[in-house]
Amino acid sequence: MSAAVLSLLTKSTVRIGEVPVGSARPVLIAGPCAVEPDYVETAERLRLLGVDILRGCAFKPRTRPDSFQGMGAAGLELVAEARRRTGLPVVTEVVAEDEVAIVAAVADCLQIGSRNMQNFRLLVRTGESGLPVLLKRGFSATYDEWLAAAAYIQQTGNDRVILCERGIRTFEPRTRNTLDLSAVPALRELTDLPIIVDPSHAAGRASLVPPLCRAALAVGADGLMVEAHPRPRDSWCDAEQALSLEELAPLVAWMTTG
Ligand code: PEP
Ligand code: MN
Repeated sequence: MSAAVLSLLTKSTVRIGEVPVGSARPVLIAGPCAVEPDYVETAERLRLLGVDILRGCAFKPRTRPDSFQGMGAAGLELVAEARRRTGLPVVTEVVAEDEVAIVAAVADCLQIGSRNMQNFRLLVRTGESGLPVLLKRGFSATYDEWLAAAAYIQQTGNDRVILCERGIRTFEPRTRNTLDLSAVPALRELTDLPIIVDPSHAAGRASLVPPLCRAALAVGADGLMVEAHPRPRDSWCDAEQALSLEELAPLVAWMTTG
């Protein structure tokens, strides 16, 4: 039996709240880049659309120090409220070791962003929370470096790791990053961890997101993470790549009906 077939048979499922990631049905994680003051209302609209899992970061690792860094603790309160009101699980990012506990208190899954993929102490602390960890690929990380980062989490005894391809840095400037779809089938041969795809941070442009979503599922991704905002142009972070909720709706319909 080929390695690819074998790894499909041994593929593991990681639950975020009650939602299995890595089962037969691909999941949709969606929400704004950053938690903003209207996050709870946005979350309710996302639930009505049929999104499986919410995203939204209260702590943002930004390239520039003068960019919005996230609402912080006030944002976590909105995450907790959104979770209560919608009943949906939430993925949100941790950027610092000493913030893992407060984020873990409200989240169903901790996200390690691309910029922190090799922040080894943060990986260990995050693993020790016992929560599922969504590990984004560093934008210049090889598959082996990415899996080694996952091993830091797994070594804490936490095997609830979900890998997320979000584009890598190449010579092409017209997209924010280059979505490496090879990662999905290639990693299937190397690991039994679930693999999802984030086309938003790869493309950097909303118009490219729906076709890349379809491509990601065609190569076997276990789910998608998509940035969506009720008024994309007003988004406090990553405005160019956010889908409006009207643009997200056909994607949800396509995912549920095929
Ligand atoms: C994000 O998901 O909001 C984010 C910052 O993504 P990445 O770490 O992939 O850049
Ligand atoms: Mn973003």
